[in-house]
Amino acid sequence: MSQPYRHYEVVSQLVEQAAAAMQLDPKVKELLREPMRTLTVSVPVKMDDGSIRVFQGFRCQHNNVLGPFKGGIRFHPEADEDEVKALAALMTYKCAVVGLPYGGAKGGVLCDPAELSESELEKLSREFIRAIASIIGPDQDIPAPDVNTNPKIMGWFVDEYSVLKGSYQQGVVTGKPIAIGGSQGRNEATGRGVMYVIREAAAAFGLELEGATVAVQGFGNVGNYAAKFLYDLGCKIIAVADVFGGVYCEDGIDPYLLKDHEMQTGSVKGFAGTAPISNEELLALECDILIPAALGNQLTGKNAGNVKAKWVVEAANGPTTPEADKILREKGVLVIPDILANAGGVTVSYFEWVQNNYKYYWSAEEVDQRLERIMADAFQAVYRAYTEREGVDLRVAAYIVALDRLAVAMKARGWV
Ligand code: NAD
Repeated sequence: MSQPYRHYEVVSQLVEQAAAAMQLDPKVKELLREPMRTLTVSVPVKMDDGSIRVFQGFRCQHNNVLGPFKGGIRFHPEADEDEVKALAALMTYKCAVVGLPYGGAKGGVLCDPAELSESELEKLSREFIRAIASIIGPDQDIPAPDVNTNPKIMGWFVDEYSVLKGSYQQGVVTGKPIAIGGSQGRNEATGRGVMYVIREAAAAFGLELEGATVAVQGFGNVGNYAAKFLYDLGCKIIAVADVFGGVYCEDGIDPYLLKDHEMQTGSVKGFAGTAPISNEELLALECDILIPAALGNQLTGKNAGNVKAKWVVEAANGPTTPEADKILREKGVLVIPDILANAGGVTVSYFEWVQNNYKYYWSAEEVDQRLERIMADAFQAVYRAYTEREGVDLRVAAYIVALDRLAVAMKARGWV
């Protein structure tokens, strides 16, 4: 099974497609072909039993023509270098499509955090940030949470980096706890951004959102907030699934009550007034909007033919394989691509960094207003690129917008 965005090759092919459609200067493409730098580090940790374990880590910096590198750090046993490289490139295009003054990066440490004690995890986090300290910084490269990393780990990163530099460096990472410079609205940001993109798309493509039926795969940070904000707009959430199973109700599910149920029981399963539904059934439901908000690779060559949704909105990164993408396009399903749909998270990370730089903090309302404007503008730019060219889908259109911004900046900086 192919892995979208897990393989650098898949991202490169999308860039090729967009470059051909927009007649991109080949010099720009050449400069984006490989990441600018990948640093591989060995991270020694003195374990609780007195032994030493050396973990391998990476920081891949893809391109920084638009500004400092930006991207998460994951702690995962299979965080291989090709995947980290692909995700770094994805960040370059995601930041460019929403117009953020950032480049793209990603990092990873090969480890299983579930096997580490709290103190081992802290030592690993501090040692890793020391190991990459020479290539990160508030004006150079700004990491953030990703798979298995969280605000607490960001707090350790800030602390260790600040000690190393001899001054408090809040802006070196985003996704921090609010007490040490995190932003209001960061938790909800990705789900809220998904809603804004859907709202803009509904106006552009003529979908009535009042009563529109929505199925959401994944009820974590992104899926839960996306469901709530769409419910608030008047959509009918007819199905939700998590890793344990799913629930369906033709008359609609209140995602706020569902969240309470999930908090109490650990899963959406068994929510009152709903019928059980499997993940595969959810993906094949007749509905207006299907939102994969769990993992990559959910819609594949095998099951994309079963999709009956009018739209697929990629809240997760890479939920649709290239084979599935082709099938959905042939079926006339509108796919709103991940680099646009889920960019609300990195946008509020950018707001966090701006607030850290200014040392002046915004209210949740201010954050939300700015997020709304950026997501709406990004959708409109992608929609223009889509309507201006024959045979281009929204995914390629998003890459066209991103590549165009990168090309203009490269020209302005005299790179090409
Ligand atoms: P999360 O860990 O908070 O939630 C993941 C959800 O998916 C959980 O409800 C989990 O039960 C469910 N899930 C896991 N495996 C599943 C399966 N096989 N079938 C159905 N459901 C399954 O993660 P998140 O932060 O909500 O991220 C979800 C996706 O969005 C990921 O692809 C992530 O890369 C992407 N994303 C997240 C952010 C962000 O700000 N959190 C930003 C951009 C993209």
